[in-house]
Amino acid sequence: MTQSALELIQSRISAAAPATNVTLVAVSKTRTAAEIRRLAEHGQRVFGENYVQESLSKQRELSDLNLEWHLIGHLQSNKCKEAAQAFDWVDSVDRAKLLAPLNRYRAEVGRPLNVLIQVNIDDENSKSGCAPEQLIALARHFEAFPLLRLRGLMAIPAPADLPQRIGAFERMRCLFDELKQTAPSVDTLSMGMSDDFELAIAHGANQVRVGTALFGPRANAGA
Ligand SMILES: *Cc1c(COP(=O)(O)O)cnc(C)c1O
Repeated sequence: MTQSALELIQSRISAAAPATNVTLVAVSKTRTAAEIRRLAEHGQRVFGENYVQESLSKQRELSDLNLEWHLIGHLQSNKCKEAAQAFDWVDSVDRAKLLAPLNRYRAEVGRPLNVLIQVNIDDENSKSGCAPEQLIALARHFEAFPLLRLRGLMAIPAPADLPQRIGAFERMRCLFDELKQTAPSVDTLSMGMSDDFELAIAHGANQVRVGTALFGPRANAGA
């Protein structure tokens, strides 16, 4: 990672969204605490991690910095305690069953956990995420959990050709607008990664998750 990589992404984001505030989540899975620290020294505060365990050790090493941590990977039920206590946001909630444990374990933190519902927008078998038809029902469950603040939606569209990807972003935008009618706390639409974040912003994203374009290619392409 270099300072110029961060500056380049920041300027591409502001060019794509001159009138909106877009949050850049730096996706730091597989990166070392030292790499994260370097990016933080250049002003990046928000980081996204896929694996709870991997993130906890890095968070401990970086606890002198005031960073905001997002869990963006699939959340297993048996990781709810760590997720609720160590992260500021969980961007990948996709089933009602996670809400009670997240709410219960958040009590020790003393302020609400920000939550995004992950939507399986292209109906892929391989991908986690709530089905679009079940979104509003899942969102209603949040009313029972005061320590969970529903902030919006996250999606990872299927790697497809451009028209199809745009279609997925547009369907997400519609779901987001619909969800906003039901919950006043909803303000965040997280979509777009290294190779399509400008396109996502053009279709309404105000949070993008960028890894490779900031840190360079990951050693393990599957991670
Ligand atoms: C890895 C990952 C990203 C970042 O992907 P890049 O192509 O490296 O920018 C974004 N979101 C999620 C959920 C990821 O797992």
